[in-house]
Amino acid sequence: MDFSFTPEDEAFREELKAWLAVHLPEFNAEGEIGDEHDPDRRTMLRRQAWQRRMHEGHWAAINWPRAWGGREATVSQNAIYAEEMARAKSPGIYNTNGIWQIGPMILRWGTEEQQQRWLPGILDASEHWCQGFTEPEAGSDLGNLRTTAVRDGEEYVVKGRKIWISTAHLAKWGLFLVRTDPTSIERGAKHDGISALIVDMELPGIEVQVIRDITGGELFCEVVFDDARVPASYRLGEENQGWQVAMGTLGHERVGTAGLSVSMRIELDNLIATARRHSPEALEDPGLRDRVARVWTQLELTRLLNARALSKILKGQPNWPEVPLAKLQWSFLSQTIAELGVDMLGPLGALAKGGPDAVDKGHWTHNYVWQRYTSIGAGTTEVQKNIIADRAIKMPRR
Ligand SMILES: Cc1cc2nc3c(=O)[nH]c(=O)nc-3n(C[C@H](O)[C@H](O)[C@H](O)COP(=O)(O)OP(=O)(O)OC[C@H]3O[C@@H](n4cnc5c(N)ncnc54)[C@H](O)[C@@H]3O)c2cc1C
Repeated sequence: MDFSFTPEDEAFREELKAWLAVHLPEFNAEGEIGDEHDPDRRTMLRRQAWQRRMHEGHWAAINWPRAWGGREATVSQNAIYAEEMARAKSPGIYNTNGIWQIGPMILRWGTEEQQQRWLPGILDASEHWCQGFTEPEAGSDLGNLRTTAVRDGEEYVVKGRKIWISTAHLAKWGLFLVRTDPTSIERGAKHDGISALIVDMELPGIEVQVIRDITGGELFCEVVFDDARVPASYRLGEENQGWQVAMGTLGHERVGTAGLSVSMRIELDNLIATARRHSPEALEDPGLRDRVARVWTQLELTRLLNARALSKILKGQPNWPEVPLAKLQWSFLSQTIAELGVDMLGPLGALAKGGPDAVDKGHWTHNYVWQRYTSIGAGTTEVQKNIIADRAIKMPRR
């Protein structure tokens, strides 16, 4: 394992830290944006404003080409970026999917015309994007998707149902995976009959229904296509090449958990500070003290796991089992910290956000349920364990 960064990497880190030191406090001082009463929409407006500012500083899309306002960042610079953004407590951005996944897909597979049409709006946060992959019968087994797109002249007629699509109700555009060759499933070649379509979410024949999640938030949607007509010129890549389009650009996820060990450490520090203020007796409880120490140790282990993954990637070695292990560590630890949070606050840990006495605006109660998503999103726990069993332990298949 090699922990050292190159002088270029260190210069990248210093430039980012200096930029954040000036622009983030300025942005935070501006306070709330807009007079929206809906808290989810208010959050999105704030993210939009922050992404615009980051784009002006060329910090929104670090992996994009310089010609598109990016920095062509290396793998180590991606890890540095994730760490420093977490350390500075940078707000999220408006087009997370657009910047990290869909934009790179358009850069890799899009025609010149498609790039000119869609990339500027992703970058400057003027248009929101969603990513429509999952279906009721196609989640972990995404290749099983059955939303059909039948070619009719210069259009595709799309019919089917997508679910758990984040922020689809706020999106102007979406990148959807659809089945253009319905025979491919029966032929046992299910990944071959899929295409990637860019969809205008305001088209007739598309209904977006918001789903209320366990926290009471409304950011997930079900998207129903009922013969929506999408121009064939909106297809990304060749017909039936959608699997390659979608999977070929997920490389940044290789070091995606690097910043999460930093933000979880900050979360633990915040929890201890909160307990000191509101529930000091919890810090004297031997059982809770033991749990804090265990989380701290596990966080250090996760940091080292990420460093080892990065070191292997830089040496051109396979990035597993460290990457699936780090994903498991992330979901396990974020849920462990969330549970510790409500336990350390005792009765105060049950006061939900919005109430006058809620601690930290109800963050800990909210977090307790919200963190359940970490064992589903970015690959479920069971699927990660399958990958580890298969590739790392090489367990026999029955
Ligand atoms: C916060 C969040 C945001 C999301 N945003 C989006 C989005 O914007 N766009 C989008 O397309 N999707 C999105 N999703 C959906 C996400 O990709 C799916 O939830 C995920 O792929 C799992 O699919 P599923 O929910 O259908 O569960 P399933 O795949 O049906 O899994 C159900 C259970 O069975 C287990 N299981 C499945 N297969 C196996 C196996 N082979 N072996 C052992 N156990 C197995 C799983 O681990 C799980 O416990 C989001 C999900 C979350 C939580």
